[in-house]
Amino acid sequence: MNAPLLALALAALLPPQEDTAARQITVVASHPALMSIAAQVGGERVTVTSILEPAFDVHDAQAKPSVFARLRDADVFVHTGLDLELWADDAVKGSRNPRIATGQPGNIDASAGVKLLDVPENPSRAAGDVHIYGNPHYWLDPLNALTVAQNIATGFTAVDPSSAQVYLDNRTAFERDLKQRLTGWLKRAIPRKNTPLVVYHDSFPYFVRRFGFRVVATVEPKPRVTPTQAHLLEVIQAIQANEVKVLLREPFHDEDATSFLAEKTGAKVVTISTMPGVRSAGETYQDLIEHNLDAILGALP
Ligand SMILES: [Zn+2]
Repeated sequence: MNAPLLALALAALLPPQEDTAARQITVVASHPALMSIAAQVGGERVTVTSILEPAFDVHDAQAKPSVFARLRDADVFVHTGLDLELWADDAVKGSRNPRIATGQPGNIDASAGVKLLDVPENPSRAAGDVHIYGNPHYWLDPLNALTVAQNIATGFTAVDPSSAQVYLDNRTAFERDLKQRLTGWLKRAIPRKNTPLVVYHDSFPYFVRRFGFRVVATVEPKPRVTPTQAHLLEVIQAIQANEVKVLLREPFHDEDATSFLAEKTGAKVVTISTMPGVRSAGETYQDLIEHNLDAILGALP
């Protein structure tokens, strides 16, 4: 038997080995912002999908059979952590997929190492609050997105060590791109430092802190609590007292409330998102931040 034939014969006797160098790893992200960052870190080595659609409220995702099925074949599950995704644990259990069980490298909590804002001293859901561990919308600060990218690269490397260098290179490229853009964004935002804003839901504390704006009132009295007439009157007073020119809402927020506030005060309603993909399917995390900043700066007189 010549050498190539011998090699073939020997290979046939060995148990089939998974060719990790050829097979892409299957990544499921809980939402589109994490999907975009994971896709950039993973590059050609991964396929990434998102459980949540871009125009839906991140607080509305649920553990249900269709989600279990999505997670069953995943090598990696990337999620926000905190109480934003209390469903994530149930979804992981429901998937019966040991690769993404809590504590396994295939279970990536993107919040690891992020310093949270607005952590309450006495966490309670008694008043309907859904941010009881601190504000969970941390990915909207580009510097936190660097931490997210690092967490994802660490997880991908543990799951697929043969591609460690690819993940390192991609994460480094993501960081370089984001820092370069951030420099430009900050230059544009600085002249508008301390601009007062009103937001519908408390989704933007990390974003406004980074860019030097300030939120003077939220349309919801507490996260995910519907405003009463009395609360709307307080918001009107805050808008007038602070000379607020821009009200921010997300695509799924009640337009009647923001239209009413705009009508009473003359402030402009600007719809922005916490997720890439609302405007076009190819939108990246970086595009999202840029669009949000453009929308706010463009609406100011
Ligand atoms: Zn929230």
